[in-house]
Amino acid sequence: MNHTNVQAVPNTAFDVQKIRQDFPILHQQVHGKPLAYLDNAASAQRPQCVIDAVCRYETHDHANVHRGVHTLSERATQAYENAREKVRSYINAASVSECVYVRGTTEAINLVANAWGQNNVKAGDEILISWMEHHSNIVPWQMLCARTGAKLVVAPITPRGEIDMEKFAALLSDRTRLVAVGHISNALGTVNPIRDIIALAHDRDIPVLIDGAQAMPHTRVDVQDLDVDFYAFSGHKMFAPTGIGVLYAKTRYLERMPPYQGGGEMILAVNFERSVYNELPYKFEAGTPNIAGAVGLGAAIDYLGALDFAALLEHEQHLLDYATEQLSSLSGIRLIGTARKKASVVSFVLENIHAHDLGTIVDSDGVAIRTGHHCAMPVMDYFEVPATARASFAFYNTVDEIDALTNALKKAQRMFA
Ligand code: PMP
Repeated sequence: MNHTNVQAVPNTAFDVQKIRQDFPILHQQVHGKPLAYLDNAASAQRPQCVIDAVCRYETHDHANVHRGVHTLSERATQAYENAREKVRSYINAASVSECVYVRGTTEAINLVANAWGQNNVKAGDEILISWMEHHSNIVPWQMLCARTGAKLVVAPITPRGEIDMEKFAALLSDRTRLVAVGHISNALGTVNPIRDIIALAHDRDIPVLIDGAQAMPHTRVDVQDLDVDFYAFSGHKMFAPTGIGVLYAKTRYLERMPPYQGGGEMILAVNFERSVYNELPYKFEAGTPNIAGAVGLGAAIDYLGALDFAALLEHEQHLLDYATEQLSSLSGIRLIGTARKKASVVSFVLENIHAHDLGTIVDSDGVAIRTGHHCAMPVMDYFEVPATARASFAFYNTVDEIDALTNALKKAQRMFA
């Protein structure tokens, strides 16, 4: 990647100003300055079509799904299941029964740790993760290990913030029951070589769970092409509402997994002696689901599917290169995470200014960035920093917003000089 002289105007067919018209929330002032929303890795914004789809559903079609014969219930069921088909098609799952609605990535991983872990992990077994995982891809496995006596094994990372693949390969063993790694790191931006990871694990018949929370807004994922066993993601990172996400899992795993939660929706028949569980994927969807969220997710997928993804990626790469160059020119800055393959995330610390102070100061200029440990405390420990400031870009961000960030950081430096 060449960081020198990155042009402010990219040579791309991507019309960012037109795209921005789709996102009403972006057009506001914060503390009297134009909002520069650079916190997309925490949660992305929704286009008007997603807001409209949710509003239309709530205004005209809402009822509970699956159980009713009346018209609204049938409409709600259709909207909910149409959205599932959109998910299936977007990630190229073999069947809608492999797409389980959950609250988000966190719930998806907990579902696997509980329902799959229960019958497949015992004392002495190992779960292999990496050092750069989000807490939601650490803690559920730790809890599973505590319940079973299994061991959590952590593949180290390099100073660039990449998984050390030699060491990763050496940690795979006959004891490894599952590999669970992130597709893209939220704290570092690193794009992990998940194809290689899956191939290495599959050579030993070890299933792989990929935490795709950060990947869905930046990549097109084909679960069959990846041959991934479990893939977890959240709607709110990919321009859909909060409280909805998906666990993709191969049928052969889902079939053998017991339910995660018991209740309505997940049964075919109940008496006091026993219950007969519902077919896939409903066996894993106990209780009234987030129907409006699913409708919003379907609309977000329609929106993403209609974008020129190649042009979008070129634009995001340009934002990353430009931000990396601009921020690198600041005195006393240390970039945390300099992987060769990165998504549009820039984590950094500035000498003598705590990340939280930075966050507050740049907010006063309308610039929204995240500061803290980003739910990846082991990453902070590795780089020996208490926290970082993180700017994370979506395709609707502009170089002007990066300039606003750079200027706000310069202002902070003057305040602390
Ligand atoms: N994994 C990664 C890499 C993430 O960035 C996040 C959200 N920050 C999660 C998992 C958890 O996602 P959610 O909070 O939507 O469940």
